Amino acid sequence: MIATAFFVSVSLLLGAAGAISKHPLVLLVAIDGFGFDYLDRGLTPVIQRLKENGSSARYMYNAFPTVTAPNFFTISTGLHPEVHGVIGNRAFNENHVCLWQNEDMDQLFHYDDRVIPLWTLNELSGEDRYSATLGWPSSEYDYRNHPIAHNDLNRIENSSEKIDQTIRWFLDDDKPTNLAFLYFGQLDAMGHKYGPNSAEVNSTLQEVDVTINYLLTELVKYNLRDKMNIIILSDHGMLEVPKENLIDFRDWLKNDSYKACGESPYWQIKIEPGHEQEVYNKLKDEANKLGTFAVYRKEEIPERWHVKHTKRQADLLLVAKPNYGFYDAVQFEGDHGYDPDADIRVRPLFIASGPAFKEKCVIEPFNNLDIFPLVSKMLHLKEPLIKPNGTITFIKDILKNP
Ligand SMILES: [Zn+2]
Repeated sequence: MIATAFFVSVSLLLGAAGAISKHPLVLLVAIDGFGFDYLDRGLTPVIQRLKENGSSARYMYNAFPTVTAPNFFTISTGLHPEVHGVIGNRAFNENHVCLWQNEDMDQLFHYDDRVIPLWTLNELSGEDRYSATLGWPSSEYDYRNHPIAHNDLNRIENSSEKIDQTIRWFLDDDKPTNLAFLYFGQLDAMGHKYGPNSAEVNSTLQEVDVTINYLLTELVKYNLRDKMNIIILSDHGMLEVPKENLIDFRDWLKNDSYKACGESPYWQIKIEPGHEQEVYNKLKDEANKLGTFAVYRKEEIPERWHVKHTKRQADLLLVAKPNYGFYDAVQFEGDHGYDPDADIRVRPLFIASGPAFKEKCVIEPFNNLDIFPLVSKMLHLKEPLIKPNGTITFIKDILKNP
């Protein structure tokens, strides 16, 4: 009783001190590397309950390559990788400079200045809309030179501190947030280091569940739970990669005949002039012989991947088959990035819970591109300059008022 009275008075105090936005409140929570099938392990009862009581799909269709930067940028822009330009965690720019080091990342996310993520569009839609981001990949940069109201550039590491900060921004006196992006990266790190079926991944899953429980508890404490529309999602799952399944294409090619940019399980190859046939033939021979990876000329890349129609795609693209990897995965037990249609375990989870969403609602799997039109509709945002590749058609069935 004492504890309850204390929490009520704290929430009243903070409620009085902190203004809440007049707009609907939306919080996207990204759990990097959370394959939809992890839920079946029975280690995440809080997330499971949210799923059962809220709206969900068994999984989302994610973008190729099934890695972090392309997928979170697809979610936040509603555009295919070939349109927003982030065709890998690492990718060539149009001059065949490989963008991957910290100083290049700004450039990686600024392929076309018309492309803006939801947090920027929210603020450009005016009427006291304020955004907040905490570690969401690509959120550390400004788009159209517009710094958003709340950006955790100090990179808070601790999960509960991230949540505390997010809630403070929703209750900010000056600029109360109506749209926040919260990111947790630990599960992906453990999946790479120890593999998806490891004890370490299982214990991290339990920690993630505790973190989500803390988020829900704090929202109740600050009187925000019944106002907050929470979307919990991920970018991809994780597959095991045994060491004997690693492929070293460097052994087959002359050093000066090509430049490579990427990371397991996908690499772009730019062929130096005069070596076109030699490089392609050698890689193609090895691919045919081993059957563990595929080589595509730019024009042969499958359309459904949407990474082909961009100046950033180079001459060749190498893609390993599921459970295989390239030489750089040598320190990994788990990897991802494969063709999303080649193995269902690379697909990510999607759960929505809050006043705008239906309860106990399950919809068919949809593209992660569709999150952008969903959030745009919920917050009545302006039209973006580039028409989204996603659609509201399927995902709108989770809304109480579609
Ligand atoms: Zn990863």
